[in-house]
Amino acid sequence: MKIAMYWGAGCGGCDVSLLSLHEKILDLLKEVEIVFWPCAMDFKYEDVEKMQDGSIDICFYNGAIRTEENEKIAKLLRKKSKKMVAYGSCAIEGCVIGLANLYRREEILKEVYSKDVPGEELPEFLPYLKTLEDVVKVDASIPGCPPPSPILEDALNSLLAGKQFGKNVALCDECPRKDSKPDKIEINKIYRWHEKKDSGECFLAQGIICMGPATRAGCKAECITANMPCTGCVGALPKVRESGTSMISAIASIIGNKNEEEVINSIRDYIGTFYKYSTAKLLPEGRLKDES
Ligand code: SF4
Ligand code: SF4
Ligand code: SF4
Repeated sequence: MKIAMYWGAGCGGCDVSLLSLHEKILDLLKEVEIVFWPCAMDFKYEDVEKMQDGSIDICFYNGAIRTEENEKIAKLLRKKSKKMVAYGSCAIEGCVIGLANLYRREEILKEVYSKDVPGEELPEFLPYLKTLEDVVKVDASIPGCPPPSPILEDALNSLLAGKQFGKNVALCDECPRKDSKPDKIEINKIYRWHEKKDSGECFLAQGIICMGPATRAGCKAECITANMPCTGCVGALPKVRESGTSMISAIASIIGNKNEEEVINSIRDYIGTFYKYSTAKLLPEGRLKDES
């Protein structure tokens, strides 16, 4: 089986995440032939252009679409691949890179480059960030920032065997703290994780925002096992566009009647809390619309 891996607008963590398979990567390498992986080996775009259409069995595309080059290569790889897989949160929903959609292109360039905005020597910076499915048809997604190893292992095994993968339940379902989550939660104050001594019970019941109820299961609650609340890197459940709005709705339903305003005001950094990974889904065309 021929596979390709490409890195668009992202931090590079997704490329490195393959190594989290540890010795299992050796089993994977026995099954596949890597025909394009510029992060690890010296390949040129001309190498891909010369390939026959559909000759790559699976292309894993990580990172979002922020430049003309990202878009051009995504389209080229789509043409050359039987299956296109969005690998990681940046490719699927924009992730932290997508927070840039809160700002206009000109504001970003001015902030980064001050006066001397580079011209011809850099690929064109698109007006806003897009996800992979905004530019090409995507056949499957491997979520996470980067994909946690339980999800990655399941996805790779399933893809190689031609099977479906992914769980259809929320993270709470596989959380080691789920037995301490009451049927009815009422919170009268929201704490940030460092503001409260962790009792070891469900974070949400303690008044600490945990994105578990709005996040798809599969990572085996890695962060919660390490005593950190979930920030939602795996993203929404199937058929839900993004998890931030679902989580805001969940929080609204558990705020106690007494101090409603106080509780709402105690939530700091709405975007960072609820839309850290999904701003590009919330603002698919960035702030372009209010430019006029
Ligand atoms: S999904 Fe996370 S780890 Fe992967 S490229 Fe984006 S920011 Fe990096
Ligand atoms: S809200 Fe968070 S801590 Fe509570 S059960 Fe769900 S995933 Fe676990
Ligand atoms: S617990 Fe949440 S933030 Fe951590 S890996 Fe799982 S989905 Fe991502």
